[in-house]
Amino acid sequence: MVFINVFIYLIVFILGTTIGSFLNVCIYRIPEKISIVKPRSRCGSCGRTLEAIDLIPIFSWIILRGKCRTCGVKISPRYAIVELITGLLFVWIFLIYGLVLTTPILWVFFSFLVVVFFIDLDHMIIPNKVVITGMVLGLLVLGVQIYEGYPLYMSDSVWSFVLGPLVPMFTMLALAMASMIFYRAGGLGMGDVKVYLPIGMFLGWRLSLLSLWFAFLFGGLFGMVWIFILRRDKKANIPFGPFIVLGAMISALYGLQIFNNLFYR
Ligand SMILES: [Zn+2]
Repeated sequence: MVFINVFIYLIVFILGTTIGSFLNVCIYRIPEKISIVKPRSRCGSCGRTLEAIDLIPIFSWIILRGKCRTCGVKISPRYAIVELITGLLFVWIFLIYGLVLTTPILWVFFSFLVVVFFIDLDHMIIPNKVVITGMVLGLLVLGVQIYEGYPLYMSDSVWSFVLGPLVPMFTMLALAMASMIFYRAGGLGMGDVKVYLPIGMFLGWRLSLLSLWFAFLFGGLFGMVWIFILRRDKKANIPFGPFIVLGAMISALYGLQIFNNLFYR
């Protein structure tokens, strides 16, 4: 039994790292406006098209010691790190939800979140293309909600699908406006507002608002460390998207437990 469990987790992990490898392509290409399907991946330095052996998640990077096989140029560990993170997240979701439809739905959702995290970290934008893709993927949840009932909505009503994206988006819009008027802070961008549409579709309005709360908590804690401990520049442009992503992940993984403990004891 233990052996079978380990085997299943290993398969889930490998699935996650493989998806992570594709997410690397999305993270790198979408902001550059290059197609994510073709051309095939190649070395950024010598232009050699990568072959199967170069494309095994994590392992290729380790075996090749982080260098291109042809020209020896260094390959950023970021690629392997994104693959590792995606693999671990896939296992984490499976550990919490097990063999139910919520698990593959959250695999899709977290893949979207990983792309948002790294693109916003690199470019300080959340491209419309990514937001729209997230919303198209979010339609998956509508199907499940209608035919099966979707636990994260915490409601059987199809209305939750309408409220899901709108409540968190307008809350975020209000917060962004307030911060602009009262603090003249440009910290929150429209991308941060728009990304709550797909997040709301996947999490429903209750868990989305919880995720928003977590996003500000993490962002605030990071800000305190940044200013008081690291003594860095107060005016530095720090993207908020990564905190939105962390909030959404925590809420997706533990939101139901948090709500149950708070309100339904
Ligand atoms: Zn090369």
